[in-house]
Amino acid sequence: MTGQRSELIVVIGAGQAGTELALGLRREGYAGRIVLIGQEPIAPYQRPPLSKAFLTSPQTEESLWLRAPGAYDKAGIELRLATRVLSVDRAAHVVDLDDGTQLRYDKLGFATGGTARQLPGARRARNLHSLRTMADAVALRSRLVQGRRLIVIGGGFVGLEIAAAAVARGLSVTVVESQPLLMSRVTSPFIGRHMKEVHTAHGVDVRTGVGVAELTYGPDGQTVDAATLTDGSHLAADEMVAGIGMNANVTLAAEAGLAVADGITVDVHARTSDPDIVAVGDCATAAHVLLPRPVRLESVHHATEQARVAAATLCGKSRLYAAVPWFWSDQYGTSLRIAGVIDGCDSSVVRGDPACGSFSVLHFRGDTLVAVEAVNAAADFIAGRRLIQQGAAPDPDSVADSKVPLIVGSG
Ligand code: ADP
Repeated sequence: MTGQRSELIVVIGAGQAGTELALGLRREGYAGRIVLIGQEPIAPYQRPPLSKAFLTSPQTEESLWLRAPGAYDKAGIELRLATRVLSVDRAAHVVDLDDGTQLRYDKLGFATGGTARQLPGARRARNLHSLRTMADAVALRSRLVQGRRLIVIGGGFVGLEIAAAAVARGLSVTVVESQPLLMSRVTSPFIGRHMKEVHTAHGVDVRTGVGVAELTYGPDGQTVDAATLTDGSHLAADEMVAGIGMNANVTLAAEAGLAVADGITVDVHARTSDPDIVAVGDCATAAHVLLPRPVRLESVHHATEQARVAAATLCGKSRLYAAVPWFWSDQYGTSLRIAGVIDGCDSSVVRGDPACGSFSVLHFRGDTLVAVEAVNAAADFIAGRRLIQQGAAPDPDSVADSKVPLIVGSG
């Protein structure tokens, strides 16, 4: 540090990860300046409800705020909303903002999140939606009108949650998923098959293994009227949503010369290839002590845990990110909880009877339990998560018996 200037940590991105990072710095005892920069015009908010209860209820934006407005001032965090970082000069330790100002940082955090993927070849249309931001959710909610026909393109978490919300709002819903199974990025075939049955039972027309070949637009060119699928079928629609995943926002980091893969490459301390810079949340591809290879995870729990580790890193402490990642979704009355990551597992055991609507799937790498997918089975999720954390190797035959509780420490 030079002269009278106090130390400054800049966090780029005011979503869950960026906000937790900024607040975490104070918990770690950092006493210098913190500037938290967000490009959206509203205070940091929770994203998970946007594709769930927010679509079916008159929830206000304020009800989703991560912290009360006064909390940032109180923590000494300078929140700069509706502001974009245009570039990062790592040699000079300077970030350029779109309001024409510059900040000279000592340490920097990337929490730039991701952007909803756009349907290839699709033009903008007022009834073609995506869902990533509060503004997206407010727009979509206003279009979920009873009796309308909705096509959801993409049968991942977001697409299926929107489908369930739309059914609750009285729309007639078709889901188009290009992969043979639903939710295949994160869940196993057991879950994909089960959730197809659940959606079908609620009246959703679920088309898997088929993509969108072409969209047809209305005479004004401003609305999309129909989709022709790759199997030749033709579906008319009043509204469409593309829920086809997100791309991590890595351009800024890549232009600054940081190592970037699918996301910004970080180690188990959330440190990038520059020792003064961390990256957290959806935008980071992270090494993890429990996982066989680096992964980019999209979950609130992950964002929060990794941000805590990153805050410690920026404060010169060495803390490992070792928590078992977990994910969740609610669709209709079905609660899906996933602990661990199924990537790299080589055997699986089903516990309970999927036909009863409550079961779990346990996944092993060798003898070690690495993931548990629990459908309406909260106790299995909780015990499974602990077993994974312990590195337990429970006997597959014993854990398949749902009459015997999963016991922590039995590995
Ligand atoms: P999210 O968590 O945002 O729902 P995912 O990546 O888990 O994101 O899910 C997106 C789903 O969209 C994936 O299952 C993927 O196979 C599917 N998908 C991607 N592109 C298309 C497309 N053009 N048509 C139909 N489905 C698509």
